[in-house]
Amino acid sequence: MLLPLNDDTIMSAASCLCKGGIVAFPTETVYGLGADVFNTTALARVFEVKRRPYFDPLIVHIAELSTLMRLVDYTAMDAEAIRRLKKLANTLMPGPLTLILPKLPEVPDLATGGLKTVAVRFPKHSGALALIKNSTGAVAAPSANPFGYLSPTRAEHVAEQLGNDVDIILDGGTSEIGVESTVLDLSSHLPRILRPGGVSREEIEAFIGKLDDVRPEHPHTEEPVRSFNIGQCLSPGQLKSHYAPRTKLFLLDTDFLCKEAYKRNCAYLFFNTVSFDLWKKNNPRAPLNGGHRNIFILSHNGDLRDAASNLFEKLHCIDAAAYSAIYAERAPDKGLGRAINDRLEKASNK
Ligand code: AMP
Ligand code: MG
Repeated sequence: MLLPLNDDTIMSAASCLCKGGIVAFPTETVYGLGADVFNTTALARVFEVKRRPYFDPLIVHIAELSTLMRLVDYTAMDAEAIRRLKKLANTLMPGPLTLILPKLPEVPDLATGGLKTVAVRFPKHSGALALIKNSTGAVAAPSANPFGYLSPTRAEHVAEQLGNDVDIILDGGTSEIGVESTVLDLSSHLPRILRPGGVSREEIEAFIGKLDDVRPEHPHTEEPVRSFNIGQCLSPGQLKSHYAPRTKLFLLDTDFLCKEAYKRNCAYLFFNTVSFDLWKKNNPRAPLNGGHRNIFILSHNGDLRDAASNLFEKLHCIDAAAYSAIYAERAPDKGLGRAINDRLEKASNK
């Protein structure tokens, strides 16, 4: 059932969550598919509807910091880790930041893929917060899309992909940030980013100092990272191929994309207008006067926030038009550009 987001529908959706239902709801990053984290039957339905493998842990969404007490085992954290947590809690939360922390035994293994840690996020979205507060206060919610496919940034994306399998879809318009949260591991000796996302490395480092540079390794395209230990913290579910459109995607540096010859049946996804103009010079005969049907630009003036918020929307649009391939330009490798490139790389590894 697709419902507009308002006070009444939030209350109905909250009561649905309390009764073990599953609800898709908007957040500032992408739409989530929520279930009460303490209800394992509801959690199992989330995995089933998404066709998500059970080893891929869910992010638990909270609406106040005090809920951390019900989820996190502080006794398993050293003083430095607690200091970092406090600092981030006071600065970047609520926001598009997910923290990996040692879990209390009460948090079901199903929610954490059997790991000893739990992923927690405090979203910055009034509708999401009201829903969480009025339900059980801790809502496990992966992105509301079939496993491996593009994340939804509008309620229509959820309705098209998961439709009747979900009890309620709350329509809160387009997600403001448009890429998923940054996943930051605070459970290991040195904090490290497991997934670049809506908060940049630079912003995090400004509050807690230098982050460990090592990114988790992905042994094979389709093979999940299964091993995990606190010392060498890997992130299951971070596959080489993910967030992928059905259409084959080639990710190219600006120079290479600008030399790519025009093909009528392909889509071109430029980072900004400057790159598009360069490419046009190399393709003087491209029939571009008819509205640039197969040309897509992430942000005309190259603004990284704007580009991130358009990324999944443009890819959904391109995928629906069934081009034979997508040629996409790599974004500048800084700030939100890292999250954009991470998603495009994963999309290109299909
Ligand atoms: P999604 O909710 O679909 O954006 O995906 C959440 C991602 O967060 C998972 O695929 C994992 O990579 C990561 N994650 C969640 N829980 C943990 C955890 N306990 N340890 C490491 N990574 C996690
Ligand atoms: Mg996801």
